[in-house]
Amino acid sequence: MIIYSDTQLDFSDVLLRPKRSCVLSRSDADITRDYSFFNSDAKVSGTGIISANMGTVGTFEVARKMLDKNLFACLHKHYNYEQIKEFLSSVAQERQLKIFLSIGLREQDIDIAKNIIDDDLTVSICIDVPNGYIPPVKKLVIDLRVLGYKGPIMVGNVVTGDITEDLILSGASIVKVGIGSGSACLTRRITGVGRPQLSAIIECAEAAHCVGGMICADGGVTCPGDVCKALAAGADFVMIGGYYAGANETDGEIIEKDGQKYKIYYGMSSEYAQKKFYNGMPKYRASEGRVVEVQYKGSIDDVNDEILGGIRSCMGYIGARRLKDIPKFASFYKVHNQLNTVFEK
Ligand code: 5GP
Repeated sequence: MIIYSDTQLDFSDVLLRPKRSCVLSRSDADITRDYSFFNSDAKVSGTGIISANMGTVGTFEVARKMLDKNLFACLHKHYNYEQIKEFLSSVAQERQLKIFLSIGLREQDIDIAKNIIDDDLTVSICIDVPNGYIPPVKKLVIDLRVLGYKGPIMVGNVVTGDITEDLILSGASIVKVGIGSGSACLTRRITGVGRPQLSAIIECAEAAHCVGGMICADGGVTCPGDVCKALAAGADFVMIGGYYAGANETDGEIIEKDGQKYKIYYGMSSEYAQKKFYNGMPKYRASEGRVVEVQYKGSIDDVNDEILGGIRSCMGYIGARRLKDIPKFASFYKVHNQLNTVFEK
């Protein structure tokens, strides 16, 4: 029996150390990065924040808002090919690669990927499976490349360096990192499996960068500071679900209770999602996701402005002038307490 006894850290276990800095104003911080992708000749420029492919967040409406801010979007798996084609035809060519189309391991998902290749659509692909360690995931990466798909492939989810390298060397460009870290996720409770997100990012980013790939930190963002910590730990992209869920542009009605406004957010393997998208929950499966009511937040533009403002300010504190330089300039304090919560409920 092996017990890995190094302390594994989450976002809440650390704070970034401020440093002498020549980034005098927030406007000196350049948050646009030119991305070129391993195993692909695609190039795109933007800030690596991605809206998650959750039922309410992975919508066309949210995607348009993300693109308007020079950000990325991952669509949920429940649009059909015609809808996707129509949507992409309405997106400017230079922005199309900022859209990630999610596919799983089902026959119809793979058919969508084949159609994209046959029709030569410009779009990125995200192979999204809760357990990225199983052989069919790696096989699908290889198959997409053999079929001739030349765009960026993101694949996950994993939390260790060995498999990260393996997936990139098999043809992926970005590996999606996070197991059990999501806000609507019950995996750790139900299965006992997972890894604190900051340590997972640090290890997987190093593994990916060593072989020319990139990572996307997925899950666990509770505030703009967590996005800064993920970037500092080496994430090239940060995927956000729950923190966007209360925004006006996500799918679903606004619920009013005791004068407060809420929206529904649900895990994609929750019983709620299984019923909505797959006619119910198979008997052999336990629900690894939950349904929550999240506070209504108004426009997603304001949420993004807050996140982007946080990144710029963080760059000022640590002295990083370019987004890509953040990890080079960052060092962390391990802390017992990161926030003063005296006025919080
Ligand atoms: P959040 O930003 O809400 O903290 O995390 C979003 C991420 O949680 C998603 O991108 C996905 O990786 C993960 N996730 C979504 N639904 C489920 C679920 O039902 N179960 C688990 N284990 N993870 C989920």
